[in-house]
Amino acid sequence: MKKDVKDVLFSEADIENRVRELAEKINDDYKGHDLLIIGVLKGANVFMCDLMRKITLPVQIDFIAASSYGHSTESSGVVKILKDLDYSIEDRHVLIVEDIIDTGLTLKYLIENFKSRSPKTIEICTLLDKPERRIAPLDVKYIGFKIPDEFIVGYGIDYAERYRNLPYIATLKPVVYMD
Ligand code: 5GP
Repeated sequence: MKKDVKDVLFSEADIENRVRELAEKINDDYKGHDLLIIGVLKGANVFMCDLMRKITLPVQIDFIAASSYGHSTESSGVVKILKDLDYSIEDRHVLIVEDIIDTGLTLKYLIENFKSRSPKTIEICTLLDKPERRIAPLDVKYIGFKIPDEFIVGYGIDYAERYRNLPYIATLKPVVYMD
């Protein structure tokens, strides 16, 4: 797996430090409130697990699975809900945790869908942001790292369901995509 890695963009230490900073900000911003964290499966799973263990507020979690890419590296723009939330978000402070925002189409769809369920507040926390590729404008309160328009894997994020268990965030050698 490591032989497929081209460059490491963020090391384990880089990620851990940034996740701690994000959690501190969230702890401050939501002081005195319960928080419902919604992880967008599968990519946000590792980030969400690390983030929530650094959050000191009362937290409940839920997951939604949405797909816009299939097995390719380009967004199709068509968002499918593969697994819906288990619980109501009505009157809750909701924090959506995402791995990467690219075109923004997935989150735009999810935000509109969630807003119709009457949460008290709704905010987005993404580990990675690719602003150059944005099609749907989004108001993102918490961003781990801004990255250029490169396809990345690791720390929960896959290419064709592989590389999620890399502990860092990396680009892949072009030969991987030709296989
Ligand atoms: P968007 O709808 O914002 O274009 O796409 C968001 C989703 O596309 C992310 O949650 C992620 O699953 C996937 N995605 C976007 N950029 C990348 C990337 O560089 N690598 C991988 N593996 N997935 C990406």
